[in-house]
Amino acid sequence: MSIVLHGIAVGSGVAIGRAHLVVRGMDEVPHHELPENEIDAEAERYEQAVKATRRQLEQLRTAIPENAPTELGAFISLHLMLLSDATLSRDPADIIVKQKINAEWALKQQVDFLTEQFNAIGDDYLRERKQDMLQVAERIYKNLRGLNTDIIGTEDFEDDSILIAHDLSPADTVFFKDGRIAAFVTDAGGPTSHTAILGRSLEMPSVIALNHVRDLISEDEWVIVDGSSGVLIIDPDAVVLAEYRREMREFKNQQRQLSRLKKTAATTQDNINIELLGNIETTEDIKNLHKFNADGVGLFRSEFTYLNRDTLPTEDELFGIYLEAVKKLKGKSLTIRTVDLGVDKNPRWFGHNRSLNPALGLTGIRLCLAEPMMFRTQMRAILRAAAHGPVRLMWPMISSLEEVQQCLTHLNIAKEQLAEQDKAFDKDIAVGIMVEIPSAALAIGALLKCVDFISIGTNDLIQYTLAVDRGDESVGYLYQPTHPAVLKLLQHVIRTANRMQKQVSVCGEMAGDKQYTRLLLGMGLRRFSMNPNNLLAVKNRVIQSDVMMLETEIQRITRSDDLDKITKLIKKLNQTNQGT
Ligand code: PEP
Ligand code: MG
Repeated sequence: MSIVLHGIAVGSGVAIGRAHLVVRGMDEVPHHELPENEIDAEAERYEQAVKATRRQLEQLRTAIPENAPTELGAFISLHLMLLSDATLSRDPADIIVKQKINAEWALKQQVDFLTEQFNAIGDDYLRERKQDMLQVAERIYKNLRGLNTDIIGTEDFEDDSILIAHDLSPADTVFFKDGRIAAFVTDAGGPTSHTAILGRSLEMPSVIALNHVRDLISEDEWVIVDGSSGVLIIDPDAVVLAEYRREMREFKNQQRQLSRLKKTAATTQDNINIELLGNIETTEDIKNLHKFNADGVGLFRSEFTYLNRDTLPTEDELFGIYLEAVKKLKGKSLTIRTVDLGVDKNPRWFGHNRSLNPALGLTGIRLCLAEPMMFRTQMRAILRAAAHGPVRLMWPMISSLEEVQQCLTHLNIAKEQLAEQDKAFDKDIAVGIMVEIPSAALAIGALLKCVDFISIGTNDLIQYTLAVDRGDESVGYLYQPTHPAVLKLLQHVIRTANRMQKQVSVCGEMAGDKQYTRLLLGMGLRRFSMNPNNLLAVKNRVIQSDVMMLETEIQRITRSDDLDKITKLIKKLNQTNQGT
């Protein structure tokens, strides 16, 4: 009988194949006490297992194939760092000596202890790093037991297998792109886990957070993985299989067609040029941006440099990173957003966040203004990078005119500091704000007078307008991008910016979702910034659209207060043939 399960979707497309269950390392850990004369050798055995683990991870890091996701190297380095920490590299050996027990059991005790400590952390991002610790421990364990640490590479591995694992570590995924794995599903993982991030970058259908899915599937059983909707179907019947096979063919066809659009200009049927930009998180992502021929970077989420470390980055370190981005972009524009920390991205040094409602607390620009040294350091680095190429500065989570004025004051101080030190910088750097809080959207006319450009962050704008936590799946059904209130705000902001001749873009997920391309074009949007993987699908919609025709249709949509009607009208808008 077939079973349908829902998890978190982290890839795209559909895969159909036979299940391959990945053996879980730390089930049924052996436990025994040791005679005095075997203890030193046991501690030595543990140390050898740690060394073997280090060797394997280092080898994997150097063997990462060209086509693997860019984050992979950084994630494996993080695992090597965790392995070097005394909590994993030394403490279990001490437990062996103290308790006179075997190495596997000592490791198990240490893992249980660390798990408890991680569970006590209030912060989602850090709590999810528990999975990284468990993945490293599992590899040590497999080395202790002499088990195979590679997930692929075994002879009995079928092409188009679907991996069913408790969890997958970044190291497990190094050779995923070799074509033998069609998809993966895991019990564990949250939306910001490394498994999720890699799933997205691998562009492989994958569904995570399925809890105990391994207990429901047998080896070689047929499964369907729908990476777009987060659905897993175990043992599907013939009708369902046929339907999904059709969908799979269609998806592959579409991808093939889209790849031909790389060099095509993003010009509408009525000859309006649209700018399609990419969102990035590290300079490594720029490779992907060029792959899809984006016009530049519309949003550099600069938080990554501040995470997983004990100290703040220095001005020179940040300057180095931003300069590298400028060089890699070869003349394309780069909009750097100052750090947006405090909700799900919390650096180790950040002790402020005790708030019950972190998304309403000291976050985004509020945190920058509360930490002026950090803020000005980053702005100095951005100003210096701007002397070397088209760099723009953007502030996140602005809620009032006063905040913009304070930001401008800090920016002037940063400029004065650089001038005093005789450092080269762009004194006329273009400055902009993210519009992602309803108060900013409503007061946009006043804010626009102070800045050169704005970018609408629909992810947060929807969250704050509808009072729906964007990361909470239990209220996910209320997170509606086309809610009439959201559309009214979007239209107001885009119209006002166009009237005041200030540049406006959207950089939230809506910009990369082709079902909203025509809606936004009709509202007057001409710049979209998105995950580069979505760029060609959006371009395809752009070149098949006629903006003049859309403008009249849009009025009916934004005037309506009926969500069902809006949904139908948007669907119709997308179906209308507008040329080609
Ligand atoms: C947004 O809120 O839409 C946005 C682009 O910013 P982030 O997703 O980084 O909060
Ligand atoms: Mg945001």
